[in-house]
Amino acid sequence: MAKDEAKASDFSKGLLKSEELYKYILETSVYPREPEVLKELRNITHNHPQAGMATAPDAGQLIEMLLNLVNARKTIEVGVFTGYSLLLTALTLPEDGKIIAIDVNRDSYEIGLPVIKKAGVEHKIDFRESEALPALDELLNDKANEGGFDFAFVDADKVNYWNYHERLIRLIKVGGLIVYDNTLWGGSVAEPDSSTPEWRIEVKKATLELNKKLSADQRVQISQAALGDGITICRRLY
Ligand code: SAH
Ligand code: CA
Repeated sequence: MAKDEAKASDFSKGLLKSEELYKYILETSVYPREPEVLKELRNITHNHPQAGMATAPDAGQLIEMLLNLVNARKTIEVGVFTGYSLLLTALTLPEDGKIIAIDVNRDSYEIGLPVIKKAGVEHKIDFRESEALPALDELLNDKANEGGFDFAFVDADKVNYWNYHERLIRLIKVGGLIVYDNTLWGGSVAEPDSSTPEWRIEVKKATLELNKKLSADQRVQISQAALGDGITICRRLY
């Protein structure tokens, strides 16, 4: 199989009407522009039992554009895993850019770390091995951090997304973005519970609640993009 041919497991995240369509997008618009180091990280991650958690490359492409649009220099990442979205962010930020990257699990971060080092962007990353809530609270303890970040990508511990939102809305500056991943949760948000597998139910409930609250949150402009597993982009308005 050619390195850039879309693999079967790449489709698990697709919300599109056919695998062929997703494969078409990946092979036409995404893979030809994906940096070599990201391909390498994606291939390393592919052998991980939880490979499905990695950010889909089409979603990554959108994140890259959003980072560029807000001229992101300081960002926060909640949920690193092996580092696909982290490396993508590090490659996109300017030389003096900084990412505070939070994950409870350093081991998975270390799987991707050699590739991050090879890419020459490790100096932009401040990895914090921690539960996300206390790590965000610690940032808020320093007043200087309020409104101090341009962008946040949230991809961990879905049941806490709203708690993260209440903190991130203070850390991100007006005009900055908070991006939530997996907000369609495999499409389960629009299915009856009887069709939803048991393991998805708890996060499904939290996601339904989150989506309603974000929709009603006047502090942000939102766009829920049906890409990857659903991505909600929030722009802080005031
Ligand atoms: N963005 C990553 C995927 C993240 S997967 C990528 O592109 O590959 C979710 C990650 O969230 C896992 O690595 C897990 O260790 C982490 N996580 C789960 N609960 C967490 C919590 N409460 N606080 C911080 N990280 C958490
Ligand atoms: Ca995700």
